[in-house]
Amino acid sequence: MIEKNDLTIGERVFFPIRGKGVNGTVVRINKKTVTVFDKLNSRVYRVPYSLLFKDITFSRPPLIFDNSVLLTEEELSDLADELKKEYQQVFKTFNSEQTRLLESVKIKWSKRPTYRKGGYYLKSAKGQLKNEITISSTFKNTPKEVIKLVLFHELLHIKHFNHSKEFRSLEQSFTNFEKVDEIMGKILVEYRIRRMKNLI
Ligand SMILES: [Zn+2]
Repeated sequence: MIEKNDLTIGERVFFPIRGKGVNGTVVRINKKTVTVFDKLNSRVYRVPYSLLFKDITFSRPPLIFDNSVLLTEEELSDLADELKKEYQQVFKTFNSEQTRLLESVKIKWSKRPTYRKGGYYLKSAKGQLKNEITISSTFKNTPKEVIKLVLFHELLHIKHFNHSKEFRSLEQSFTNFEKVDEIMGKILVEYRIRRMKNLI
């Protein structure tokens, strides 16, 4: 983890936001957060130290988890069934059409690892109903809870197309949401940096 004294103004840092990696320069060092300017999107963020990365972090081996799993696509579908049971209250709010889609949704791994998004839900393509969730294969060999959160997020997209307030509040009903979301973001950021540095 980055410490306060490790940072200097103007230095480039990386951090995850909702599963996406953002990079920017340090403009202010605060007690608990760092103010980072993302030039590309002209946005300013206050980022907790625990979420910051800098290149030096990646001289160590990639994030390794003792509880990682390699799920087949069939097991991904089983995981969706687990989620449906565990979060019945959430899925009860789906209307009949959405419930029908939820029951028949196909789930697969992406062919190649991606790092910008954890996954996506495709309702239709070329005028045809697709009803398909793709989970980024970046999450192969990561903890089941992380894969579960990515999947939960995509299942919620059957109901909500956008990341509206309502979507976010449903998403936050996920057990230990903040912690799991943080790990998920770190995996994506780490992947992104490794790609940028041609390490993978
Ligand atoms: Zn989304």
